[in-house]
Amino acid sequence: MDTDVVVVGAGPVGLLLAAELSLAGVRPIVLERRAGPNETPKARGIGVLAAEALRRRGLGDQLDREHEKGLAALERDHGTTKTHFAWIHKVDPEAADPGRHGALIAQPALEQVLRRHLADLGVEVHHGFTVTGWEQSPTEVTLTVQTPKGERRLSAGYVVGCDGGHSTIRKLAGFGFPGTPPLMTVRYAKAEVAGRDLLPAPGRLAGGTLFHDGDMIATFDFTDDVPDRDAPLSAEELRDSVRRVASVDVAITAFQGGLRFTDQARQADTYRQGRTLLAGDAAHVHSPNGGQGLNLGLMDAMNLGWKLAATVRGQVSLLDSYTDERHPVGAAVLHNTRAQSALLRPGPHVDALRDIVSDLMDLPEVNRHLSRLLSGTAHRYPLPYSADHPLTGSHCPPLIVNHTTPLADLARSGRPLLLHPAADAIDTGGRVDQVTTASLDHADLAAVLLRPDGVIAWAAAPGEALDPPSLRQALDTWFAA
Ligand SMILES: Cc1cc2nc3c(=O)[nH]c(=O)nc-3n(C[C@H](O)[C@H](O)[C@H](O)COP(=O)(O)OP(=O)(O)OC[C@H]3O[C@@H](n4cnc5c(N)ncnc54)[C@H](O)[C@@H]3O)c2cc1C
Repeated sequence: MDTDVVVVGAGPVGLLLAAELSLAGVRPIVLERRAGPNETPKARGIGVLAAEALRRRGLGDQLDREHEKGLAALERDHGTTKTHFAWIHKVDPEAADPGRHGALIAQPALEQVLRRHLADLGVEVHHGFTVTGWEQSPTEVTLTVQTPKGERRLSAGYVVGCDGGHSTIRKLAGFGFPGTPPLMTVRYAKAEVAGRDLLPAPGRLAGGTLFHDGDMIATFDFTDDVPDRDAPLSAEELRDSVRRVASVDVAITAFQGGLRFTDQARQADTYRQGRTLLAGDAAHVHSPNGGQGLNLGLMDAMNLGWKLAATVRGQVSLLDSYTDERHPVGAAVLHNTRAQSALLRPGPHVDALRDIVSDLMDLPEVNRHLSRLLSGTAHRYPLPYSADHPLTGSHCPPLIVNHTTPLADLARSGRPLLLHPAADAIDTGGRVDQVTTASLDHADLAAVLLRPDGVIAWAAAPGEALDPPSLRQALDTWFAA
């Protein structure tokens, strides 16, 4: 066998997964078909959970620097820094979870941060390496790879497809990918429009939604079939779409290229088949509405990294919990993006529905609900042991430990962490880092056991027993000796 783990794809998810594996002591081989970094402007930020995860790895300063620029750009483009549900910009993330915030960092900048992080951990990305073949036996996976020096075969204990929505690994391994076909096609381009004054004001129109500002033009087109997805967007195709959506014919000039994507919503039926796993867009595709895809994929990587590393070391039973925990989270995102697509359909009936939804969003409880729906902060993984504390199974909020130390400063190593008033008295057999705490700066937490992905595996509220059987069960479930 050439290596324990191959990560296919060095998008944001593959980069973070490789870093998490490396922190947990498994150095993966990372294969990326592109010759260099991807500069395509896709996501403009990451949600609360992914931002907190990266802050726990020491990347907070870099996120914060980009966040300032991102806030200014959001304010400029939408006249508000609130996020949107179905392009109704009223969702206030700060109101739902005070003190918890995402990071408005453009995807190319985020990938640069992650590439540096991975390089600092000593892991190289093999650019120009395209996986074209896959075989799996009970003991290994063998990949066929086109490299700059010709075809090569590579065998590994495990392979993770982080190779995006068109995932080669998913297709070759025959994962089911059920879901719903597109309602709309989005086309986005940098281009000039001859006769711009012919265009109606940006907004909802008979055939969909039109956006235009400066040298940007975009259509949400509900009136055509999905074109050849492999062909790049052309000026002519964009012009046809503008005609269908806005009922005007304008010439597109100075076309600088663009993106085409749909709102089809599909999810792999399992994230693991034997020694082959999927993460990120390879496991789930949906519309970018509400800005959730990157957050979802990065949290797949956080969930999988330490579990796969433990599996390589022999703790095999952990791996099934990856699908068990992450599949429902992905399904929930697909669900709310379908609702957003429905709310974007053109026509007076949906106009009326949007007005009502918009009014409802002014109610604080509705606003908080939507915010948590988009951020995923309310989600709790079901744990395979009795854990009564209401925060167990959820991602830990940022704590200030002993009045001065941010949790993020204690979690950089990626090791499990026990924060406990009598940490020295708890025998964990060296399986977790232990910090004696006088305060966690959280009304409901007196002690907490964190998994490497930041999930609360066990917690005690003030006044509760601090060394109950559930703490032992949590330690033995997640961190076998
Ligand atoms: C216009 C747009 C706007 C978006 N906005 C947001 C947003 O605001 N917020 C948000 O959270 N998300 C957003 N998304 C979604 C987000 O961009 C994706 O969820 C994210 O890129 C997924 O990361 P990934 O690493 O899983 O896949 P990708 O970024 O697609 O990376 C996959 C990598 O695998 C490589 N690869 C593919 N096949 C092979 C192969 N056979 N061999 C080797 N390498 C291979 C590719 O070259 C690529 O580098 C948006 C997407 C789009 C298109």
